[in-house]
Amino acid sequence: MYQFVICVLYLTIIGLFAVCAFTLVKWGGLLHTYLFFYCVSNLVYNCAYVLILHSQNQENYVTALKIGYFGRIWVGLSFALFVAEFCGEHYSTAIKVVAGVFNMFTYFFILNLESTPLYYKHMEYVKDGDFPTLPHSGGPIYYAFTLINLFYAFACVFLIIRAFIREKDKIAKKRKLMIVIAVLVMVSSYVIYFLKLIPLARKFDVMIIGYAIVTAFMLIAIIKYKMLDTIAAAKNYVVDELSEGIIVVDNGEKVSYFNKPALKLFPKLDELRKTGQMMPEIHDFDEAIRSGEPIKMGGRIYTPRVNPLTENETRIGSLYSLSDDSEYYGYMDELREQKHIADNANEAKSRFLANMSHEIRTPINAVLGFNEMISRECAKVADTKETEEPVVNDAFDNISMYSGNIESAGNNLLSIINDILDFSKIEAGKMEIVEGRYSLSSLLNDITGMITFRAAEKGLTFAMDVDETLPNELFGDMVRVRQVITNILTNAVKYTDKGSVMLIVRSDEEKAFNEGDILNVVAVVRDTGIGIRPEDQEKLFGSFERLDLKHNSTIEGTGLGLSISRQLISMMGGKITVRSKYGSGSDFTITIPQKIVSGEPIGNLNARIRNAGKEKKVYKEAFTAPDAHILVVDDTYLNLAVVKEFLKDTKIEIDTADGGRKALVLTAEKQYDLIFMDQRMPNMDGTEALKYLRSQENGLNLKTPVICMTADAIIGSRERYLAEGFDDYLSKPVKIEELEQKIIKYLPVEKIKK
Ligand code: ADP
Repeated sequence: MYQFVICVLYLTIIGLFAVCAFTLVKWGGLLHTYLFFYCVSNLVYNCAYVLILHSQNQENYVTALKIGYFGRIWVGLSFALFVAEFCGEHYSTAIKVVAGVFNMFTYFFILNLESTPLYYKHMEYVKDGDFPTLPHSGGPIYYAFTLINLFYAFACVFLIIRAFIREKDKIAKKRKLMIVIAVLVMVSSYVIYFLKLIPLARKFDVMIIGYAIVTAFMLIAIIKYKMLDTIAAAKNYVVDELSEGIIVVDNGEKVSYFNKPALKLFPKLDELRKTGQMMPEIHDFDEAIRSGEPIKMGGRIYTPRVNPLTENETRIGSLYSLSDDSEYYGYMDELREQKHIADNANEAKSRFLANMSHEIRTPINAVLGFNEMISRECAKVADTKETEEPVVNDAFDNISMYSGNIESAGNNLLSIINDILDFSKIEAGKMEIVEGRYSLSSLLNDITGMITFRAAEKGLTFAMDVDETLPNELFGDMVRVRQVITNILTNAVKYTDKGSVMLIVRSDEEKAFNEGDILNVVAVVRDTGIGIRPEDQEKLFGSFERLDLKHNSTIEGTGLGLSISRQLISMMGGKITVRSKYGSGSDFTITIPQKIVSGEPIGNLNARIRNAGKEKKVYKEAFTAPDAHILVVDDTYLNLAVVKEFLKDTKIEIDTADGGRKALVLTAEKQYDLIFMDQRMPNMDGTEALKYLRSQENGLNLKTPVICMTADAIIGSRERYLAEGFDDYLSKPVKIEELEQKIIKYLPVEKIKK
């Protein structure tokens, strides 16, 4: 028997070394630490027990026993910690420290076995056959230590059996079974040892056999069932190392799992899980998830999420995660702030542009108006040949030429302002497409009238080829369609020195045009100009892009026209493409879908307008109206003077007011046939003045037509002013023909003499 026990001891020592080696190789986490701790303490005891079995007297025995107990006092605790960790139970550091301190306290009495009766009250070395024994009676510390170890043993039984029952995974269950057996063997050997249930228990520590069996099952669990495989440990580790807090609750909302970051946020989680309680904050998480709002805790911002946990398609709980998105929300706030600043700046820019346009348009109105007067006076002189003096005539010719130059520069300036305005409007997302019925022939007529004149000035021929079968009545934004075609044609003339410019208008497919159908109007503008290099063609439609500046430096432009045109075309659902050969010319093709109002064809438009614009008209007032009374309201003296000058020959009686208040005074005393009202005026603007005028009790001018005359040229202005109650709209700079047309339209017919 003696030899058998020695053999068992050696085998256990080898087995424990093997477990230690496996543990070290697969190291990772608390489970490994506790197992290693258990093996080392058991190794110490087993080695010392070899010495005990070889002891020849009490002194040898007690010395070996003291060495052995250095390990043995830790066996129960380390094994219990290992089993608890294996079952997923975690105990606070305080409990572990108290248990450790108690062990050391016990060891102190073991070291002083001979001098104190607290551990062994009495002991005596006796040789029982081959076995050296030390029969003893226990002291209080001995019983306390034994009881605590029994408690550890039974706690292990409880934990491992519970975990075994709950375990669903097959392999994990087998792994747990090994530990169940190990625990049961350990407990049985402990009980046998303590109660000396078998006679052998009096000869030697039967727990030695228990340790051997436990070690064997540990090895099976490690080798066969991969107990120390790092995956499980790694999973735990990874979950704990996540920055997200993770909380798992079962269907009854009781906390069943959480990771370290979650515990940091909610220290009471440990308590809740142990006592199987619900977590009240879960409802806050649910609410936040529903509303999409983050949760603020401890100065940080967390986004909660929830995922259902299912097993065999049955919901077994929910996994809540809380990710710390404080940085993200910080960036978002900063972005919002930056966007707010950018929006404000953009708005300020748009306001500035609108104001600037108004401010610039007002003096241009005066410049172009007076220039018009100069050219009219010169034309009269030329007509009447008032003077025979060649010097005087030359002077008039020069003045007439200078005036022509002022007109062209002024109009150029106006078109630049219009471009900038349109651009800022598009940028601010305020550009609107205003659709209505229009006649394609009159649109093309307008365009050709202007382009023929410009082309002729440069010595270019302009030709137009319009498919005669195209329907004439269309529905769309005529102003914008005209704007883009004019812009492309103007460019063609601008960038062509000799040869021709051509406008081809057709449909994109040959078919019958029926009312209500969509017609894709294709306008091709072809020129024999300088062309565009292939590498420049991509940049063509970018804002402020001017290309080939070496050749174009003398041509005026802002680089905005094509960008505006492309954006307007795309707002209308169309597209623009370009084909060009550098040095030979370009083809710009615009396609815009427009609704057909009536299928009636446009006919032979080319012949009708072929000669349009060839002659420059000499101004002659269209009518006289000596009995008519009109009121012109404007805060700028020059504007008032321009209108008066324009209408000088019509003999109309014109009153002027320099603001809304003055206008109200005048209208209270006199009835007018027509009122022209500026919009932006200090103190009282046009809209306000109109409101008072229309509400004057027994007012003389309640029914007098009021035309808004403003430099506000932003798209949509006309509609806005009409909606505010004005009868019509006239944009500045005022053109004499337009002014006269409005007067003819609104004056009573009997007062107009032709
Ligand atoms: P702008 O004419 O005011 O400079 P645009 O946006 O209308 O601005 O045109 C951008 C550039 O495209 C022009 O500067 C010019 O270099 C080029 N471009 C436009 N149309 C033509 C054309 N028909 N032929 C050659 N180059 C052109």
